[in-house]
Amino acid sequence: MTGGETGVVGQAVSPAKWDHRIKRASKLAADHPFASEVLRFYSHVASFQKGIYEFFADMPPDLNALVPKFPAFLDHIAAAAPEPLAQCARDLRKSDPDHSLDALNAFWDAAPQFHPEPGRATELLACIFLQPYAEYLADSSEPKPPRETFGTCPFCSARPVAGVLRPEGDGAKRSLICALCATEWNIGRIVCPACGEETVEKLAVYTAEQFPHLRLEACDTCRYYIKTVDLTKNGRAVPVVDELAAIPLDLWAQQHDYVKLRANLLGV
Ligand SMILES: [Zn+2]
Ligand SMILES: [Zn+2]
Repeated sequence: MTGGETGVVGQAVSPAKWDHRIKRASKLAADHPFASEVLRFYSHVASFQKGIYEFFADMPPDLNALVPKFPAFLDHIAAAAPEPLAQCARDLRKSDPDHSLDALNAFWDAAPQFHPEPGRATELLACIFLQPYAEYLADSSEPKPPRETFGTCPFCSARPVAGVLRPEGDGAKRSLICALCATEWNIGRIVCPACGEETVEKLAVYTAEQFPHLRLEACDTCRYYIKTVDLTKNGRAVPVVDELAAIPLDLWAQQHDYVKLRANLLGV
């Protein structure tokens, strides 16, 4: 099994990236009505997440310092989220503050292993709330020496939420983006990030005409799939946002019995 070239793709504290994500979400919402509800909710989420990310500009990052922001976050989600996430936010808002603190700490202790799925709305809320904290920790840390992590994040060990193809020479190099801390790391072009399968015939690729710059990469050995954003075809794409919009690819995967390697922040 080979993971290809190792190493983390450029990483630095950058509040502006949240503005790029929000702007891209509104552009895609206008272009793709079937994804507009999802993207509008994402814009609400990202605007709050930007505040969390910026919170530690003048102080050492500390999860406990964020806890007083959680009630306002729950109000924000309750007003904008689809059900049952909105109901979960309302229920948490009414509960004992210690319960929220416990929920955040319990999530954080096992955050890299979290996989959003139905019935885990409380953890999904904690994940949305703490994702920018994880991203800030990664962005503000010294780059770690390259190590062979293959299909999991070299910074926090979580699974990737999306793949990226970036221009390199006359072709493209492939990387993966961590679902939790958004660290991006390199991986070989033809290999399944879940099981390491390298046989081309076992690695299916599917594209949808609405998203010519996105490809679904599925593995017939382990049945996992990931969506990859091809920046050589569309340099304006923002991978974590375009991944949310490409719902037709997820529907195709479900119909063909593939399982997403890691659901996105909205639980898809
Ligand atoms: Zn990570
Ligand atoms: Zn596989």
